[in-house]
Amino acid sequence: MAGVAIEAVEAERLTAKDFKGKVDPDWCKGCGDFGVLNALQRACAELGLKPHEILVVSGIGCSSNLPGYFNAYGMHTLHGRTLAVATGAKLANHALTVIATGGDGDGFGIGGNHFTHTARRNVDLTYIVMDNQIYGLTTGQVSPTSMRKMRTKSTPFGSVEGPLNPITSAIMNGATFVARGFSGDPKYLSDMIMRAIRHRGFAFIDVFSPCVTFNHDNDFAFFKERVKRLDDDGHDRSDWKAACEKAMVWDDVIYTGVFLERTDEPSLGEQEPVLAAGPLSSRPPGLTKEQANGIIARMM
Ligand code: SF4
Repeated sequence: MAGVAIEAVEAERLTAKDFKGKVDPDWCKGCGDFGVLNALQRACAELGLKPHEILVVSGIGCSSNLPGYFNAYGMHTLHGRTLAVATGAKLANHALTVIATGGDGDGFGIGGNHFTHTARRNVDLTYIVMDNQIYGLTTGQVSPTSMRKMRTKSTPFGSVEGPLNPITSAIMNGATFVARGFSGDPKYLSDMIMRAIRHRGFAFIDVFSPCVTFNHDNDFAFFKERVKRLDDDGHDRSDWKAACEKAMVWDDVIYTGVFLERTDEPSLGEQEPVLAAGPLSSRPPGLTKEQANGIIARMM
């Protein structure tokens, strides 16, 4: 397991600074991911969580370096496999607060399959996607959320593909908490993350997190002109149809906030009887040492 060492923080109530990792982010100056990292640190402090109670899992990409910048257990996994690893970790120790992070290419392209199935299984974890609508780490190619006609290194004459809508996708796949944030509105984002972590089941937040180096179409100014908080529009989070309709709006107005929040569906862990007796990680294994060694020997 990679990531920073766990700080032995004794203070009764931690602050956002206590969730700062030992390594400083190597993101470009002005990258939207800074706002997401800060919002996540603030949310964990506000919730009264401790670093040893949290696991942050990521895939590959600029934003997927986040676990290294966050003081908690961390795991930097394979490209697109964030949710598969996070699901395994949550089932192994459901006492942990599991937060999966990554980018749009990692989560909706390479990891699109896992996005679908983690949503329909309603795994009790929080998934934060730093959506910059481009592949940043590989220096600027179209991603699943890039807008049509966008010119990039891989589409010099403009992309002919339409973008995936992460919000409607998550709703259709059965996610029980679906939200959209903007790293330029960190307080609202932080409140959203707190709600997501408290939610029982799969909580997904797609965050506009501009790549200031490679995406000059969807920059901070583009979103600042358009984003409108759902809460200012009297949106009912329990209204599935309204959530879908608001999620489809992409014009002079683009909504941020919690589109849908359902409590009628049990999480995967709640339906798994074997987990009722407590986290698997703190229970004795059901195998003898010889049996375990035998299995390992067969697998090697
Ligand atoms: Fe952020 Fe883009 Fe720089 Fe990557 S390349 S760190 S996404 S600004």
